[in-house]
Amino acid sequence: MKMTGLVDSWQRQINYLRISVTDLCNLNCVYCSAGSIARLAHDDILRYEEIQRIVRIAAGMGITKVRLTGGEPLARPDFVKLAAMIAEIDGIDDIAVTTNGILLSKYARELKEAGLNRVNVSLDTLKRDRFKQITGGDKLAAVLSGIKAAHRAGLEPVKINVVVMRGKNEDEILDFGRKTIEDGWHVRFIEFMPFGTCGTDGVETVPTSEIYERLQALGNLEPITGPAGNGPAKYFQFPGSRGSVGFITPMTEHFCATCNRLRITSDGHLRPCLLGNDEISLKEALRNGAGDDEIKRLIQQAVIIKREEHHLSGELAPEAVTRPMSQIGG
Ligand code: SAM
Repeated sequence: MKMTGLVDSWQRQINYLRISVTDLCNLNCVYCSAGSIARLAHDDILRYEEIQRIVRIAAGMGITKVRLTGGEPLARPDFVKLAAMIAEIDGIDDIAVTTNGILLSKYARELKEAGLNRVNVSLDTLKRDRFKQITGGDKLAAVLSGIKAAHRAGLEPVKINVVVMRGKNEDEILDFGRKTIEDGWHVRFIEFMPFGTCGTDGVETVPTSEIYERLQALGNLEPITGPAGNGPAKYFQFPGSRGSVGFITPMTEHFCATCNRLRITSDGHLRPCLLGNDEISLKEALRNGAGDDEIKRLIQQAVIIKREEHHLSGELAPEAVTRPMSQIGG
């Protein structure tokens, strides 16, 4: 079958753009940004008009799905305006946000009205004290209200992302599993990736096989297609449950063969792989007056240099990923 649009050197169709709209966050999670980062200068961050232009050009090349992330996207002033600016672009049929949920109570409805389709909310614990330890903020209640607000606004499916860490929150695997049965949550367990310059010392990955085994205490997990999305998660369900359990396995079973993404860092670099340092600066071109054809050429180039797979659990040392997650966009 002949593929059209953006196709990389390994015959993967690239139709999904993830954009870090800010490196700033209103939390300071131990494994993500804690203690690590020289923040980017205001002028280094892409302006909304620049982001919109990139997405418009990329949409003309075959990008149909956009995720806005960060940092904390909802903490950037006028973020609703950016959602609306992306939503009006022809060819973009899915806009999602990854958020810590703190500001969702305030913005969920406006975001839906602006054209946002759905949200993923990151939440690693259901315990207030532990939330403070992991994130540095006393905001668990705000996140839980935010999740409810997202449902009320119809930002469906609302997916809850849980990074499982040995000795830190692994004892809550069953609590999150119960949420899929009792409250219809779509919970995705994510393997912690020990990379970057962040506070990853003492944080250890719990392999998905172990999480899966532990969940069997709640019933037999049956494979399902899963809620709408573009990602690599594999989905399951407990019998009779409205919700779902997803697993994302960057460490124990990478999913590079089906990777359909390009990323844009908060300072305007195209990054073909989360876990590889290859980057192409778009911002420089944009600010030097490049025409659409030049921007297209750079996007095409990023697709061509996209590597076959990442090596986080192989020969590339974790510290070789030189940027924090908040700039790349998790
Ligand atoms: N602030 C938003 C949020 O909290 O969802 C978006 C940005 S955050 C970097 C996106 C996701 O990356 C979160 O779900 C976070 O848990 C995840 N993340 C950050 N560092 C990670 C790591 N080292 N391994 C696995 N997931 C990580």
